[in-house]
Amino acid sequence: MDIVKARNLVFEYIRRDEEGNVEGISTAVDHVSLQIAQGDFVAILGHNGSGKSTLAKHLNAILYPTEGTVWVDGKDTSAEENLWAVRQNVGMVFQNPDNQIIGQVVEEDVGFGPENLGVPTKEIWERVEESLRAVGMYEYRKHSPNRLSGGQKQRVSIAGVLAMHPKCIVLDEPTAMLDPSGRKEVIRAVRGLNDVEGITVILITHYMEEVIHANKIFVMDGGKLVMEGTPREIFSQVERLKELRLDVPQVTLLAHELRKKGLPIPEGILERKELVEALRGLK
Ligand code: ADP
Ligand code: MG
Repeated sequence: MDIVKARNLVFEYIRRDEEGNVEGISTAVDHVSLQIAQGDFVAILGHNGSGKSTLAKHLNAILYPTEGTVWVDGKDTSAEENLWAVRQNVGMVFQNPDNQIIGQVVEEDVGFGPENLGVPTKEIWERVEESLRAVGMYEYRKHSPNRLSGGQKQRVSIAGVLAMHPKCIVLDEPTAMLDPSGRKEVIRAVRGLNDVEGITVILITHYMEEVIHANKIFVMDGGKLVMEGTPREIFSQVERLKELRLDVPQVTLLAHELRKKGLPIPEGILERKELVEALRGLK
């Protein structure tokens, strides 16, 4: 079963002047069709302005298609009667953790989501505990969020989403404002949700080392979906990725350069140990 499906999705931002006349239209998502299976770990890559955030906002009905259709768990997101189910099934985590945390105490903050869903009090506390444990923040449940590091705050926002028991979590550049250790903490937590809890993860990021563990990568450019494949398939196409102004993992790039110099190294090397093995095999 696909948790997310889009068919010919088009989204246009319409700019209007003070009188409400249309000044211009920009097509942010341009005929995108895709399918994401329940339990997948999907990464979305693309240069700034390629339409990633606009696409993401369709997945929990923050935006509605100008043309085409998006289904979440089989339900059309633009039908009003599906709004609650769509929002409950797909949780969103954004870049800036400071804008997502509203509680004065960590456990309170994580409880807001289920409370708004009308979950009974006893179950709220169970969900808060289980969510904080899932992201490794249970020890901090009585702390003030203000005092936490960026990586810890972001894990609290993820716990807040988890507590709503979504089937899918969309993270839009969740590590962009974090230092390297914060980035690692967050990615470790996100991978755990996928591996252990079986939650579908859709991760938008600029950091290539965060996407090599995805099952599938989508690449966007100018609102269009331009590449789709496993990390190995995607990172086998170094020249294409450069044209799309995307980074390539350092080790992939090094392997690619060595290959260009004539060494028989396979394309699409993603990890240092693979390159070491390939080089060893050369003798
Ligand atoms: P990405 O997340 O890949 O950087 P976005 O989805 O934010 O891309 O933006 C896609 C395109 O839509 C860009 O050209 C951007 O300028 C435009 N855009 C984004 N948000 C708005 C908005 N609120 N109003 C008008 N245009 C927008
Ligand atoms: Mg964006």
